[in-house]
Amino acid sequence: MKTIQQVYINGAFVTPHGSEVFQLINPSTNQLIGEVVLGDEEDTRQAITAAAKAFTTFSATTKEERIGYLERLHDAVQKRQAELAAVMVEEYGGTLQFSKASVQNALNGFKSVIETLKAFDFVKTINKSTVILEPLGVVGIITPWNASNSFVCNKLATAIAAGCTAVIKPSEMSALQTQVLTECLHEAGLPAGVFNIVNGRGDVVGAEITRNPAIAKISFTGSTLVGKSIARAAVDTMKRVTLELGGKSPNIILDDADFSKAIPLAVSTCFINNGQACIAGTRLLVPENRLEEVKSLIKAAVQQVKVGDPAKEDTIIGPMVSKKQYQRVQDYIRLGIEQGAELLIGGEGHPEGLENGNFVKPTVFAHVTSDMRIAKEEIFGPVLSILTYKTEEEAIAIANDTVYGLHAFISSSNIERANRVASQIVAGRIAINGFSHDPMAPFGGFKQSGIGREYGVYGLEEYVEPKTILN
Ligand code: NAD
Repeated sequence: MKTIQQVYINGAFVTPHGSEVFQLINPSTNQLIGEVVLGDEEDTRQAITAAAKAFTTFSATTKEERIGYLERLHDAVQKRQAELAAVMVEEYGGTLQFSKASVQNALNGFKSVIETLKAFDFVKTINKSTVILEPLGVVGIITPWNASNSFVCNKLATAIAAGCTAVIKPSEMSALQTQVLTECLHEAGLPAGVFNIVNGRGDVVGAEITRNPAIAKISFTGSTLVGKSIARAAVDTMKRVTLELGGKSPNIILDDADFSKAIPLAVSTCFINNGQACIAGTRLLVPENRLEEVKSLIKAAVQQVKVGDPAKEDTIIGPMVSKKQYQRVQDYIRLGIEQGAELLIGGEGHPEGLENGNFVKPTVFAHVTSDMRIAKEEIFGPVLSILTYKTEEEAIAIANDTVYGLHAFISSSNIERANRVASQIVAGRIAINGFSHDPMAPFGGFKQSGIGREYGVYGLEEYVEPKTILN
């Protein structure tokens, strides 16, 4: 049982003004594993004041100084890499494989921001004008519980690269991970107030960050619903916003694809992070005349997927983060059946022997149509919907028939054709014949999947404000 009783403000762990205690539950067992005392509006204001004070000097640091700070942050996180992964497994049931990859992503994030910063010009000449890219100010960073640390690290690294300071509000459900990460970041010895971390509720700490006039920008990752409310609130003080929101990614298997590779890949892109991933390929689009073949390949692939203890190296799907999330997934499975989709594998209830945790059966529906709620809404669990198309044009139309536009996947043996299809997909990132992450290339959503981009030069530009001097 771990108890977290402090928030991190102005370079020190301090007792919060807030007194609400939030319980941390291991989702594999539903046992209490910890408690965190949540910060409140007053703690948030103190953190913002510290960040604003730090900004007056930090904004004047040189690029080289900031590269040095970023290297120190990277090294401090790297030292406790294994512990960070282990606590993700315990706290939200991320599989060991995924948790390790996620911490590695955080480390790669620091490295890629350093590379971007080295090549970034903060002063440009356009015609006879000088354009100075100035750091925006104090940034509010608000993150979700899934892969929280990699989001925090990437956003903080980019803010620091630009010369901004930050107030970070991770999900209250990630407090154990946040604690280990905060200890790491503290070890790096940055000037006090450059980053501040306040555990707390979204409608308390998050809301204060969103409305406080001393915050210049919000960088948010989370649901589209909360993202919209943040955008609305940010308008009052004209804060800049970067919103990384939900998704319902299509995975188009073209008829010339190698189905023996594309189908297992489709299963793993849907079930990534126990199906709790914004980018998950949850809508599988296959040629109508190949449906029967797809169904048997899918069944075979899903039967191989090991569900269970996330701490085991070979587990592919661990539990849902909470009982609430377990119930939400169950509701969608029931809805899929009620709306007439064919339940191919999986279904309601716990997998046998896993009744104590929030485990769900990896579930696949066939004969799904775009108007069904399981095809439209983000379920955030291991539930795959198979839709069919007759022509390439129809595949593209179905893929784009969504309010989201975060990610897409295409499988084809003809790269030119895959690229032609990709050019017509309305999404921020499209993976062809595989699934990888490029931390130098922009990431972000079209349509209701978000506003703005993260990573690389596009990510850094979101933390600076251009000032033109006419000569
Ligand atoms: P969420 O939107 O419920 O919460 C995200 C964060 O916002 C949490 O820290 C929460 O406390 C805070 N929050 C809640 N209400 C707030 C308010 N009124 N003002 C300010 N902050 C508030 O999301 P979640 O359940 O933690 O995470 C899952 C969601 O995140 C999914 O929709 C998923 O698609 C999305 N997500 C997106 C990406 C991406 O990069 N696009 C990545 C991961 C997750």
